[in-house]
Amino acid sequence: MAINRHQTVKELEALLDEYASWVMDACDELGEISQSDEYLDRRYLTKEHRAANSLVAYWMQRAKMETWQDSVGNIWGRRESKEEGAKSLVFGSHLDTVVNGGKYDGMLGVIAPIALMNLLNELDCELPFHIDIVGFCDEEGTRFGSTLLGSRALSCKWQTEWADLKDEQGITLRQAMDAFGLDFDKVVSATIPRETLLGFVEVHIEQGPVLEQKDLPVGTVSAIAGAKRLQFTVEGMAGHAGTVPMPIRQDALVGTSEMILTAEKCAKEANVLATVGQLNNLPNAVNVIPGKSQFSLDIRSDNDTLRDNCLDAMLMQFKEIAARRALSIDIKQTHAASAVSCSPRIIDQLQAASLTYSISDVDRPFTLISGAGHDAMAMADICDAGMLFVRCEKGISHHPSEAIRAEDVSAALGVLYEFLKDFDYSTDIATTTGS
Ligand SMILES: [Zn+2]
Repeated sequence: MAINRHQTVKELEALLDEYASWVMDACDELGEISQSDEYLDRRYLTKEHRAANSLVAYWMQRAKMETWQDSVGNIWGRRESKEEGAKSLVFGSHLDTVVNGGKYDGMLGVIAPIALMNLLNELDCELPFHIDIVGFCDEEGTRFGSTLLGSRALSCKWQTEWADLKDEQGITLRQAMDAFGLDFDKVVSATIPRETLLGFVEVHIEQGPVLEQKDLPVGTVSAIAGAKRLQFTVEGMAGHAGTVPMPIRQDALVGTSEMILTAEKCAKEANVLATVGQLNNLPNAVNVIPGKSQFSLDIRSDNDTLRDNCLDAMLMQFKEIAARRALSIDIKQTHAASAVSCSPRIIDQLQAASLTYSISDVDRPFTLISGAGHDAMAMADICDAGMLFVRCEKGISHHPSEAIRAEDVSAALGVLYEFLKDFDYSTDIATTTGS
């Protein structure tokens, strides 16, 4: 990277702090755009979506970027390279939120790269590749129940059957796109040819406590866990709490309890994450033996084989428990996503940048796994994708008390600056990294 202005380390640190402080202010400002007066709620194809895109485009333009909205509603900015035939390195994350969400989830990954562009402008940096920043329109799936709509449109994963997805008011995705001024049938034009891309980097709050425990401001993500979700219905026989003897009971809730403890044991042994988050008990009365119970299971790992083997072992034991207790069990899988490995090349370069910036754990920068899904999963279908996590307070996310520190944002900007300065763009790295 050509830098026409000499700057000392101290000057650079002062600039990083200045831009980090702008990032914090911008997150506050963007976090005010909400469908609710009481909490943050910003969904796809709403007037708040449009307002967020306008504000982000304004910031991009001030950073001397050309801006446009694509056919699915993502907002884009480009810092154009003068190099002929230049490819693009893309930064970005999502601008939609969950209901009652926090102001950093997603937004940080759009605003921090804009701050980085201001820094490059201040330092008169010319790059031999374009930098694109994208604010994805829908990652959380809050409105239509299907996640990653914005990023999946770029990787040609847009499904025609999504036209009929409905929101809480019964408005279909096609109708909502119409009202927003977009055309469902033209979304395909948002697809990005992989040969134009150098890679994708998503900056995101960690949404977990690992960096805080390690006392690190940032960490490079090695993989995004794949998840499977299942729903179970366990049926026994309801009966009077005072008349049915213990040895002959078919108590669905007691059987379910044993299954939940078995899930925890299997997950711990296999080193995967398993959560039973929903539980229904019927008839749920104080003097009735439970006749039916339903529960969910969410199981995740960065290794699909490990996860699936663990799930098989769990299911076998659930069936044994059901048989021993004379219960029936019905199992339905409702969701399956494969784990995605981040690009080794992006990981190495983010790690090298972290080392230059003196963020290290013993002698190597720290890498961690993302348990949550991210736009980077969809982007990995069309280019080398990587993620940089920023520490968040107590790991709290999807909640108004989501918090980050300005000094950690400054460290993230420093790492991204070093990453860009030494970015190896010479070889074509547009390969699929999904697994
Ligand atoms: Zn997010």
